[in-house]
Amino acid sequence: MRAVQYRRVGAAPEVVTVPRPEPGPGQVLLKVTAAGVCHSDIAVMSRPADAFPYPLPLTLGHEGAGTVAALGDGVTGLDIGDPVAVYGPWGCGQCLMCAQGKENYCLRAQELGIRPPGLGAPGAIAEYLLVDDARHLVPLGDLDPVAAVPLTDAGLTPYHAIKMSLPKLVPGSSAVVIGTGGLGHVAVQLLRALSPARVIALDVSDEKLELARRVGAHETVLSDADAADRVRALTDGVGAQVVLDFVGAPPTVATATACAAVEGDVTIVGIGGGSAAVGFGTIAFDAAVRAPYWGTRAELIEVLDLARAGAVDVHVETYSLDDAPLAYERLRAGRITGRAVILP
Ligand code: NAD
Ligand code: ZN
Ligand code: ZN
Repeated sequence: MRAVQYRRVGAAPEVVTVPRPEPGPGQVLLKVTAAGVCHSDIAVMSRPADAFPYPLPLTLGHEGAGTVAALGDGVTGLDIGDPVAVYGPWGCGQCLMCAQGKENYCLRAQELGIRPPGLGAPGAIAEYLLVDDARHLVPLGDLDPVAAVPLTDAGLTPYHAIKMSLPKLVPGSSAVVIGTGGLGHVAVQLLRALSPARVIALDVSDEKLELARRVGAHETVLSDADAADRVRALTDGVGAQVVLDFVGAPPTVATATACAAVEGDVTIVGIGGGSAAVGFGTIAFDAAVRAPYWGTRAELIEVLDLARAGAVDVHVETYSLDDAPLAYERLRAGRITGRAVILP
């Protein structure tokens, strides 16, 4: 089968031919219908050889959707041809976190060498994807897999981040979204669907701000050194009760903490190398800073239900498998609007 692999540190991903996997006991083989391209892959591919976290070659893609192609021994509850989405943050299934469906926070994944598809295990940007356990699949029903596949990360991650802060998003509150790309443009829609908050979107590109406005942002602000002051001005000096940073670079983390209201939540989702120095007097009173990872199995089901209800509509650009390296190049250059989705 054909797959898109990162083979050598520093080189561009390549389209290669690899053996088609066979499902072992308990595993499920999917014929991939759609696979999303995430900025985290760029972060992974930017790591130096001495700090590269996974074995190479690595088949990319941690957002996957497909139809069931073959079932390993003992798998029940699925039929050949069923359309499914992949829950990516695989855990052990046994520990206290996994027992709550929070496999993203599995206590034993590292020790057991369990890694997500595309982030250690062979990923979804391929003709077939081996899924380690049927519990990591969620039925898609009649959702369009192309529009739905980004929901497995670009939807699930902001959903998880926003859900924790919903009690703060009361009428009259404000939420700031920094970086309205793949995750951020879904975050704007989730905030609108789940809360009455006024949504203020920040980005460095007019095109991304235009998308943010189209998907529901009430206000847009250019993300520069004055952005926090502009957020304060838009909120009568109060700041935002919830700030979501989908860039996570030093300047955006500085903006994020400077935007926070008293008792606000600052949630750093982007992995841009920034960090918040929080101490008395450096942030609004009682503001909290957190850095969550991906989301739970239950939350993926909820996000897909939101899409079914028409509350989220991911803006996708589609690419063939052969053009996947081009999609990565464009993502790195900031030239994807919404999410790039590969159709193998
Ligand atoms: P993306 O490239 O699609 O979007 C990033 C957006 O940020 C773009 O619109 C870009 O114009 C904008 N941007 C860049 N610099 C900016 C700045 N200084 N101020 C404001 N906006 C700026 O990326 P994505 O796939 O949506 O991923 C977003 C981030 O989230 C990445 O760092 C990714 O690695 C990370 N991520 C984290 C998790 C997690 O679980 N924590 C999960 C998925 C992705
Ligand atoms: Zn991702
Ligand atoms: Zn576990």
